[in-house]
Amino acid sequence: MKISVLLLLTLAASAEVPTPESVLGHKPGDDFYLATYDDALGYFRKLAASSNRIKLAQVGKTTQGRDWYIAFISTPENLAKLDHYKDVSRRLAVARGINEAQARQLAHETKPIIHIDGGLHATEVANAQHTIQLGYDLATNEAPDYKTIRENLITELWFSINPDGQNIVANWYRQNVGTPYEVSPLPVLYQEYVGHDNNRDGYMLNMIESRVVTKATLETQPLVFYTHHQTAPFPGRIYLPPFADPISGNMHPNMLRWLSVIGTSIAQYLDQHGMPGSMHQESFDVWYPGYLDNMPNFRHTISFFTETALYRYATPHFYTIDEFPQTRQDMRAEMLYSSPWHGGWWRLADACRYMHGASMAVLDLAAKYHEEMTYNKYRAARDTIEHFEKEPPFAYVIPREQHDAPTAAVLIEKLMLQGIEVNQSAKPDAWVILMNQPFAGMVKELFEPQKYPELKQRPYDVTGWTLPYQMGVEAHAMTTPLTPEFRRGLEPITSVRGLAAPFNHNANASLRAVNQILAAKGTVAFAGDEIAVSNLDKSKLDSILAENRLRAVATKETGKSVKAARTALYRSWSANMDEGWTRWIFEQFAFPFTNVYNADIIGGHLRDRYDVILLPDAQPRTILEGHRPGTIPERYAGGIGEQGSDALREFVSEGGTVIAFNNASLFAIDQFKLPVENSLAALRPDQFFCSGCLLKVHIEDAKNPLAAGLSLDPIVMFERGPAFDTKPEFKGVVLARYPKERSPLQSGYLLGPDHIQGKAAAVDVAYGKGHVILLGFRPQWRGQSHGSYKFFFNAMYLTQ
Ligand SMILES: [Zn+2]
Repeated sequence: MKISVLLLLTLAASAEVPTPESVLGHKPGDDFYLATYDDALGYFRKLAASSNRIKLAQVGKTTQGRDWYIAFISTPENLAKLDHYKDVSRRLAVARGINEAQARQLAHETKPIIHIDGGLHATEVANAQHTIQLGYDLATNEAPDYKTIRENLITELWFSINPDGQNIVANWYRQNVGTPYEVSPLPVLYQEYVGHDNNRDGYMLNMIESRVVTKATLETQPLVFYTHHQTAPFPGRIYLPPFADPISGNMHPNMLRWLSVIGTSIAQYLDQHGMPGSMHQESFDVWYPGYLDNMPNFRHTISFFTETALYRYATPHFYTIDEFPQTRQDMRAEMLYSSPWHGGWWRLADACRYMHGASMAVLDLAAKYHEEMTYNKYRAARDTIEHFEKEPPFAYVIPREQHDAPTAAVLIEKLMLQGIEVNQSAKPDAWVILMNQPFAGMVKELFEPQKYPELKQRPYDVTGWTLPYQMGVEAHAMTTPLTPEFRRGLEPITSVRGLAAPFNHNANASLRAVNQILAAKGTVAFAGDEIAVSNLDKSKLDSILAENRLRAVATKETGKSVKAARTALYRSWSANMDEGWTRWIFEQFAFPFTNVYNADIIGGHLRDRYDVILLPDAQPRTILEGHRPGTIPERYAGGIGEQGSDALREFVSEGGTVIAFNNASLFAIDQFKLPVENSLAALRPDQFFCSGCLLKVHIEDAKNPLAAGLSLDPIVMFERGPAFDTKPEFKGVVLARYPKERSPLQSGYLLGPDHIQGKAAAVDVAYGKGHVILLGFRPQWRGQSHGSYKFFFNAMYLTQ
C-alpha cells in the first residue's frame, strides 16, 4: 500500500514536469526539425519552473545580445548548497592553504561539478539538440544511474555554448527544408565574427563567448569539461579520446590519463547500449592549445571534445558499404575501432542518441570516481606549484617600457582573464609572472617557442603560437632561482594601471587613437614614426590618449596629413572567417569601413566610393566563383567573376589600394597579371609544408611609411600561404623578406625552410595610379598576431 502511494506521488510529480515534445511539438532529434536556442531556453525555463532539481543561471549575454542561460542539475539538497560546492571547487583548484589530509577530506565530502555542453559549432546540429533531452532526463529520470548522478554530482549543463549560432543555423535550415536547398551550406558565419574559429579562441579570449565560458569555468572549477562536436573520421560514428599525438608537454599527466579512461569508458558504454562504431586516435591531435575545450586542462579540469558522425542538419542519409574507404569495407575489428559500424541510415536522432549515451557515460564514470578525480585536480595544482619551485622557468618578466607597451598590457590582461596571477615589480619596472602558481603550465605553453616533434602524421592545426612573438612583446624567462629581494619587490595586481606609452607609430593603440582623433575632426600628420595632432581640443585629445594608454610626446617634423580611408572589406557568401576576424579588428581599432559583397564589386565605380579594398585570405577560385549555382539559394551563388575582377583593376588603376591577405594574394597576382610569382607554388607537401608556424621577416626599408612602427624583424604567422619572387619588370617595393642565410623558423614546424629563405613576404606593387599590397602570411591571425597588424594598418593611410 505504502509503495503504491509513493509510486502515485512520483507519477503525479513527474506528470507536471513537461517533456521536450510537449513544449516544442517535436522530440529533439526528429527528422527535419531543429530547435533554436530560443526554443531550448523556453523549454528549460518551463523545466526549471516545474522541478526543484534544476536551477537556471544567467552567465552573460552573447555577441548578438541574447540572454545566455545555463542549467545546474542535481538533487534539491545539493543545489541549495551550490555556492558552497563552487567555493570548495575553487579552493581545491588552487591547492593553497589546504594540506593533504584536508584535500582528501574535502574530496570525500564535496559534490563536484561536471560541465557538459551543446557545442559551439552550430552546423554540428545534434550537439545542442541532445542537451534538451539530456536536461529533461537528468532532472526527471528515476532509474538508479540517474539517481546516483544527481546525488554525487552537480551537472553544469550549457544547453548551448553558441546561442547566436544555434538560432542562425536552425532558422537557415527551416527556411530551406523541403526545397532543393535543404542541405545547402550556410552563407554567413555562425558566430558574428569568427564562425568555426569560435573554438580556437580559448587562450586569447577575443570573443565575448570565450570570455563568458572561461569566467564561468573559473567560478565553478568543474572536474570535467565536455564539449560535443560532430565530424567523426568516416565511417566511425563517434571519435573519442585517446586523441592522436602530438599533445602538449605542459599539461599535468593526470589529465591525459583521465582522458583515456573517459574515452574508452564512453566507447564501452556505447557498445553495451547497442551503439557501435567508436573510434580513437585518428586525425585530431591536441597540439594547438587554443581550443576552448582544451584550455581548462591547464587548470587541471579534464577537458575534451568528441566528434559524433554528421550528415547535414536534420536531414537523414543512407550509407552503403561501398562508400566506405577501401581499408574499412571488410568490417575488420581494430584495437581502437573494435565495433565497426556497418552502414545504413544515419539520422539526427542517431547522433543525438550517441551523444546522450556519451554524456551519460561521462556522468556515470564521474559519479563513481568523483572522489579520486577531485583529489587528482587538487594534486595536479599542487604538483605544478612544486614543480616550478624547483625547475625553470621560475618567472617571466615583461618590461613595462618596450616597443609597443600597450600591446604588452593586452597580453597581461589576457593572462589575468585566464586566472593567472600577475605581479608588478618596482625595480625593474615590469610585470612579473611567478611560475610557482597552480596554472603555470598554461603560461609556459603560451610563452615558450614550440618545437614540433618529428611525426609521420601531419599537424591538424597550427604548430607554433608563442604569444610574445606573435604580439611583438618583449618577455624574458628567468631561468635561475629568484632572489628573496626580487620576490620582496613584487606586488600582486588584478588590473593594469598607470601605463602611458609614447604616442607614436610603435604602439598599435596609437593608430586606434589616430582613428578616434580623425573621427573627432582633428588633424593628424605622420612623419616617420612620429604622429602630430592639431585642431583638436586638448582635453578631448588627452582623454583619447589616456583611453589608449598613451601620452603625448613632442614631435620634430610637421609631416604629411592623413585622413580616414574609405575602406571596403570584401565579404563573400562563403562565410569567410578571415573576413570576420578582420572586421572584428577594424572595429576594435576604430577603423571606419563598409562590407562589400559580390554584387557591390561587380557593380563597379569603386574608386568613387573607396580608397582601400581589403581582400581577406581566400583561395582565388572562391573569390572568383563562390558557391556553385544550384547548391545554394540563387542570391548566394557565384563569386565576383570576370566583371568583378575588371572593376577591381579599374579601381587600382584610378589610384585605389587593394590589400590582399595570404592566399588572396594569388588572386591579385593572377587577375592583375602582376610581375610577381609564388615561389612555393610548384612544391609538393613532402618538399615544403607549413600548417601554421611563426617566421621571422626583415623589414627592407624602415623609412617606408608602410613599415612605420614595425620592429625591424617582426615575426609573422605563416599558414599555408605564398612567398614571392619579383620579376624583372616589377615596379614597387619589397616591404619584408625572409632571411636568406638561415631558417626563418621561430616557433612550430616548417618543412623545407630553404625554399622560403630570401623570398619576399610582403610587397607593395605599383599598378596604374594605385597599389596592390600582397601579404603572404596571416597579418591578423585569430586576433593574436598584434606584432604584424601594422602591415595592413599602415596601408589604410596610403591613399590620400
Ligand atoms: Zn566542431
